[in-house]
Amino acid sequence: MTAKTMEELVALCKRRGFIYQTNEIYGGLQGLFDYGPLGVELKNNLKQSWWSSMVYERDDVEGLDASILTNPAVLRQSGHEDTFTDPLVDCRSCNARWRADHLEKQECPACGSTDLTEPRAFNLMFKTAVGPVDDGSSFAYLRPETAQQIFTNFKNIVDSTSRTLPFGIAQIGKAFRNEVTPRNFIFRVREFEQMELEFFVEEGSDEEWHEIWVEKRLAWWRDQGVSEENLKLLYVPEEDLSHYSKATVDIMYKFPHGLEELEGIANRTDFDLGSHSKNQKDLNLTATVKENKSSNSKLAIQKRDTGEWIVPFVIEPSAGVDRGVLAVINEAYKVETLGEGKERTVLSFPAHLAPIKAAVVPLKRNNEDLVKAAHELKDQLQSLRLGRVVVENSGNIGKSYRRHDEVGTPMCITIDFQTLEDGTVTLRDRDSMEQERVHLDMVGKTFQERIVRPDSR
Ligand code: ATP
Repeated sequence: MTAKTMEELVALCKRRGFIYQTNEIYGGLQGLFDYGPLGVELKNNLKQSWWSSMVYERDDVEGLDASILTNPAVLRQSGHEDTFTDPLVDCRSCNARWRADHLEKQECPACGSTDLTEPRAFNLMFKTAVGPVDDGSSFAYLRPETAQQIFTNFKNIVDSTSRTLPFGIAQIGKAFRNEVTPRNFIFRVREFEQMELEFFVEEGSDEEWHEIWVEKRLAWWRDQGVSEENLKLLYVPEEDLSHYSKATVDIMYKFPHGLEELEGIANRTDFDLGSHSKNQKDLNLTATVKENKSSNSKLAIQKRDTGEWIVPFVIEPSAGVDRGVLAVINEAYKVETLGEGKERTVLSFPAHLAPIKAAVVPLKRNNEDLVKAAHELKDQLQSLRLGRVVVENSGNIGKSYRRHDEVGTPMCITIDFQTLEDGTVTLRDRDSMEQERVHLDMVGKTFQERIVRPDSR
């Protein structure tokens, strides 16, 4: 069972320290959120899982971490200055602003007036002044996608790694879009993170690679605990394709507010590398790109068999970290009835995503020996470097278990007076609530087995 409403998730996220509104004490700033103590762990775990599957578990992908501030020439040449826009309408009655393509009828959702302006293109990119003089002469964009920094580093990476096709470049990082109507919690925000892979292939093999990546990405989301029935593929109709795309498949997820895009997998052809190259006329490009006078590089690669220089096609799986966090929280969220009118809230994250991997609970708060033994066990488990382990020293065992169920901690380990006598502890499993008595010598091994296995839920 997934969450019933977004409100339930928002309330849990705030109460337990996953996600807060940015600058809340000043009334907030629209479309921005901060990740709290548990949110940052969850988000890091999701990104780590993506990085492992995209970079470490493959032999054909390199990583990158490039700048957010971007030379305007890059985004002029990539087509973003001209086309990265949303259609904006204003309500003449109450001055509210809306995205024309999000309105179900020609009516202002705030006041009901039908007196709306004609839609006009609104560019979504944020600009900022670079250097000490803010006279408009020197500015940079905050990147609206991480991808362009991958394309502009293409030659650097090929030269320094001697890669041949097919190969990919992976990057995780912030992107910024001045969304007209940010909404639905962390689903549509103005500052977010993307996990993007640009996978370079020879023209002709692009369609096959596109299919391979759609399947791989679906499988990865399932490994993050996202259930099959909440995922759908959308083959984007030609008239809705981005300016660079030959074909795009969106992985759609059933969010609490409806079925919406979680990740887009696009066939960007040779559009971007072609756009950023000088002397495009020599390159035999498939895509129609604008003449480029400012680049000093030819972003081509030699074919392994013939030595011929070609501009590769690129397949791009581009996933939103924040939308991913929302999806995995929604999937993990359950309210279970325990009998006698009692219920518990549980976040059944896969163990590799859980923000806290284990909580060590001394039975009595003020007992020095119990607390000391708890800290020793915590240090031992922490040294395995499998993620965060905490000592939960609240003194109320029932409350400790409930708290850790609610934040998704897979394992609680209770230290009691018997521990001091015979070295055994109680392991309590989050999902089954079963408890077992094991010797301290076995705790490290059991912990490792249950946390490392990716499908352990
Ligand atoms: P949408 O149609 O929902 O605006 P998009 O098609 O513009 O999304 P892409 O440009 O394909 O999105 O970006 C890739 C991914 O980045 C999306 O699948 C999404 O997960 C994430 N993303 C894009 N815009 C936002 C945003 N404003 N807030 C949070 N995540 C976003």
